Amino acid sequence: MTQPQRDLRLTVWNEYRHEKENPKVSAVYPQGIHQVIADGLRAHGFTGVQTATLDEPQHGLTDEVLDNTDVLVWWGHKAHADVSDEVAAKVVTRVLGGMGLIVLHSGHFSKVFKLLMGTGCDLKWREGNDKERLWVVNPAHPIAQDVGEYIELEAEEMYGEHFDIPAPDELVFVSWFSGGEVFRSGCTFTRGSGKIFYFRPGHETYPTYHHPAIQQVIANAAHWARPTASAPRSFGHRPIPLEQLPETQS
Ligand code: ZN
Repeated sequence: MTQPQRDLRLTVWNEYRHEKENPKVSAVYPQGIHQVIADGLRAHGFTGVQTATLDEPQHGLTDEVLDNTDVLVWWGHKAHADVSDEVAAKVVTRVLGGMGLIVLHSGHFSKVFKLLMGTGCDLKWREGNDKERLWVVNPAHPIAQDVGEYIELEAEEMYGEHFDIPAPDELVFVSWFSGGEVFRSGCTFTRGSGKIFYFRPGHETYPTYHHPAIQQVIANAAHWARPTASAPRSFGHRPIPLEQLPETQS
C-alpha cells in the first residue's frame, strides 16, 4: 500500500456562492464545501492543505498560491463565467507543467476543464433524489484504494451518459442511478505533464463530501495526481546536438 505523501501542497478551490445564497446548502456546508473537502484531506494526514475561493482577488489563485500548489481541487457550478479567462489560462498552463487537478461534480463545465478536454463536456442531469451507486471498475487503480467494491450514496443529483469528454486514459468508477442512467464517474486524463481526475458526485444540497468513502477517493486522487515529472518541459530550437553530428555537405 502506498502511503500518501503527507506534505503535498493541496489547494481546494470553491466558487463558494451557493453556500452564501441558499440556506439549504449552508445547512449542509456552513463553512463552505471547500472547508469540508479540506478537512477530509487533513483527516487523511495531508498537512499542507489551503483553500481559495472565487470572490478573493484573482479568485484566490495568485502566482504565489499556484507556485505553492502541487494539486488543485476544483468545485464550481453557477459562476463558471465569473472565472476570468486569465486565471483559467494560468491554471491550464500550470496543469500542462505538471500540477495535478481534481475536478469535482459540476466542475465538468468549468473553463479550466473544458479547455483541458477540448470537448463540450455536456451531460444529462436530474435533481430527483436518485440513489447513486459508484462501482469500482478498476480495482487495482490507486484512486480506488480502500474504497471497497462500490460506494453508495442514498440521494444525489443524477448525471447521465452521454458525457461529452474525450475517451479517458483510465476509468475508475462507473455510476448507476436508481432512475436508470449510468455515468463515467471517475475518469483520469493526462495533459502535458499534468494528471487530471474528474470525480462526479458532490451536488451542493447533499452531504456527499462528508461521506468517508468520498473523502477517501479525493485523498487517493490527491496523492495520485501529485507532480512526478522528473525534468522540466523543454521545447523549441535546439542548435547544439547531444552527440557530434557527421559533417554534412551544404
Ligand atoms: Zn449539481
